[in-house]
Amino acid sequence: MSSIDLKATQSPHILVLGTGGTIAGLAKEPVGKPLEYQAGQVGIEGLLEQIQELIPGSLKLLSKQLANINSKDLSEALLTQLGSVVRTALEDSAVQGIVITHGTDTIEETGFFLQATCGKAAQQLGKRVVLTGAMLPSNASGADGPDNLLGAIRWASTPLENCPGGIYGVFSGKVCMARDLAKRHGTALGAPLMDSPSSPIGLINPSWLSGVKAVESAWHEDLPIPQAAQWPWVEILTSHAGARSETIDHWLASQVQGFVIAGSGMGGVHEAWKIPLAKALTMGIALIRTSRTGAGRTRPDIPEKDLEGSMAAGVLSAPRARIALQLAIYAAKQAHLVGKPLTWQDFFARIADLPEIR
Ligand code: ASP
Repeated sequence: MSSIDLKATQSPHILVLGTGGTIAGLAKEPVGKPLEYQAGQVGIEGLLEQIQELIPGSLKLLSKQLANINSKDLSEALLTQLGSVVRTALEDSAVQGIVITHGTDTIEETGFFLQATCGKAAQQLGKRVVLTGAMLPSNASGADGPDNLLGAIRWASTPLENCPGGIYGVFSGKVCMARDLAKRHGTALGAPLMDSPSSPIGLINPSWLSGVKAVESAWHEDLPIPQAAQWPWVEILTSHAGARSETIDHWLASQVQGFVIAGSGMGGVHEAWKIPLAKALTMGIALIRTSRTGAGRTRPDIPEKDLEGSMAAGVLSAPRARIALQLAIYAAKQAHLVGKPLTWQDFFARIADLPEIR
């Protein structure tokens, strides 16, 4: 039997953090209507009890409930808390690895946030932080949560000599870098949660591994984690048929600090937005352009010349570009406080230039 021991903080263990999601969801009629459920109902200890028999007796688990929410309601305050707990746990010599259960709706944001703020620490300390979740509530027949949680624990705890520590995601028996987690389908099980090639857990595919190593070696420094009240205000605006200049004008009257434009196709921005967006830049509002398609690279000056001072998002989707821009604005502010003349563009470029895993 494995041990789920809340007091085992001094002995080597895997830390399992619960944040909610469908994996912790309950359906009222699990047989007939499994999709009519409430996310974030079962505590992390309850989820671990479901798989207790399958965990090797030698493995100690320590669980902590950080939140129990539907991740559509993810807040920046929770990201701050999660990032801080992960950083502290990575430094703790008793923690061998970390598993995080999370809703799939915004796992894309959290995966990217942890890569940008804790990825280097995880790599240097040789530990794996593993995000997982589920598409079916915990009481549905054929629920995918138990398998995913077991897979995540396995990936966090199995020593694999040639695979670096880092921030990963596990779904349906496969592992990817957490920065590649994304929900690209509303209801399908498993596979649509990974944006890039993955590897079966325990059977590492060499081309995936070389991609992981390339990302890890290109990432030099973790970005600072904003305190809950210090996250810059950044909005995602989608360019679409019939876009109106009034939409941007409306935002210019607010305290917004940045826009991520989810453009059409290769990142096209509606002509009606060009003049108000140029005005936004003169007001000191940061501007990033990406694609609303959710895939492919957004290149500078394609399909049209970028507005002076704005940037293309590279491989970052709109939700990831938003987190990256928030962290870049915050990092630039911190750098100025210690006399380093770095801009948000300097920090954003470092993140957007990370290699893609193909
Ligand atoms: N709405 C749920 C959530 O993100 C969906 C899920 O977990 O799959 O919490």
